Amino acid sequence: MSHKTIAELSADLAQKKCSSVELTRYYLQRIKTLDPLLNSFITVTEEKALAQAAAADERRAKGENMPLLGIPIAHKDIFCTEGIKTTSGSKMLDNFIAPYDATVVTKYKEAGVVCLGKLNMDEFAMGSSNETSYYGAVKNPWDLTRVPGGSSGGSSAAMAARLAPATTGTDTGGSIRQPAALCGVTGLKPTYGRVSRFGMIAFASSLDQAGMLAATAEDCAILLNPIAGHDPKDSTSLDQPVPDYTATLNNSIGGMTIGLPKEYFTGEGMDAGVTKAVEAAIAQFKKLGAVFKEISLPTTDLCVPTYYVVAPAECSSNLSRFDGVRYGYRCEDPKNLLDLYERSRSEGFGEEVKRRIIIGTYVLSAGYYDAFYLKAQKIRRLISNDFEAAFKEVDLVLAPTTPSTAFKLGEKSADPLSMYLSDIFTISANLAGLPAISIPAGFAEGLPVGVQLLAPHFQEAKLLNAAHQFQQVTDFHQKIAPLNVE
Ligand code: GLN
Repeated sequence: MSHKTIAELSADLAQKKCSSVELTRYYLQRIKTLDPLLNSFITVTEEKALAQAAAADERRAKGENMPLLGIPIAHKDIFCTEGIKTTSGSKMLDNFIAPYDATVVTKYKEAGVVCLGKLNMDEFAMGSSNETSYYGAVKNPWDLTRVPGGSSGGSSAAMAARLAPATTGTDTGGSIRQPAALCGVTGLKPTYGRVSRFGMIAFASSLDQAGMLAATAEDCAILLNPIAGHDPKDSTSLDQPVPDYTATLNNSIGGMTIGLPKEYFTGEGMDAGVTKAVEAAIAQFKKLGAVFKEISLPTTDLCVPTYYVVAPAECSSNLSRFDGVRYGYRCEDPKNLLDLYERSRSEGFGEEVKRRIIIGTYVLSAGYYDAFYLKAQKIRRLISNDFEAAFKEVDLVLAPTTPSTAFKLGEKSADPLSMYLSDIFTISANLAGLPAISIPAGFAEGLPVGVQLLAPHFQEAKLLNAAHQFQQVTDFHQKIAPLNVE
């Protein structure tokens, strides 16, 4: 059962080969047996899951047959879930029970999805290794001494070990694609504004985007269908028509042009094993009829520094709401209001979050605003312009997802700069608001390697089509981390 995709499980449910309750019990059992090794869940909602599964079975018995009806998934703990603890990986929210559902959660509920629980993550989604979580590090199922990537590290580890047939994630600078690559699963970051951010605990609002991690591009398409579209509760969600993302998966990609940015292929700082797998993926796309073309994205080396001005600036503003007054952690015996603010925030936030708040406050302060924040915003426009020019020449862009495979737990945690550089290939899509997907493309010394495709705004269908075609002729996405109990 653990090898099955959502497309297959959905067919099984439709043909009554299994019930949603059976499926849900199966994954709950897997979580019980395997998650002590991984620490990918913060909360498991067993009772609620079984009740939702029973309700889904009843709806199927009455003749309803939506693709996700009765399919269990798990949510990153950044999505508010009514009546369920929602922590964003922080001590600050350890006592927070969300009073409402995020739109993503609501839409999945309406589609009949069963929620297995909430997944571990870097604190407030800041990190690339899941080591900044208040709930402890998550382990990579392919090698328990290594990180699963971050910030959606619980989502990628749970997915790689098939503790759920799919998981949700969020991507501000790579947090869906980087962990997907490091754990050997498929991860889609939709266009900024394609999926509502309502009820998603904010990190950097102009970059944050909800998406999913799944076994295949086809499953990502099935999962994108119900959540894409305008939400009146999120003014940055765009009112654009939503196609059926599964309808074009089988189109031929013969003649599709794919750009290779020369700045991404200098070899500098790249593992040889990653380069090899990416080259093999290019060869495979050529066999499928894609035509490659060298392109240039001259602002590439400005992406990481720009991101680390814009993201902390927005985070310092977003996280000002955690003051110990309204909700979340409050220090013991405050002496006065200032003491309450100071101690609640210094005791409630972890080190990486504090580092970002300090950087963000600095770049927004009078006298530095023009030199840093305003300049970063101008460069962000240039980065976006680079892609706009590139997409006049090509349909998609291909790049490595990460410069290396999963690194050792603890290897980079004392060196924030080297941690920040692990997002060097993913950050540009967020700065430009573009959709991007990471797909399994091979292994280097037994560890998964991902390759990334980027598309123009709102061209998720094209991305999913190319990724699906690749997965028809490769089997990397079918490999499951060797933790099986079956
Ligand atoms: N690793 C990046 C950061 O730490 C991106 C995180 C994310 O996408 N949420 O900010």
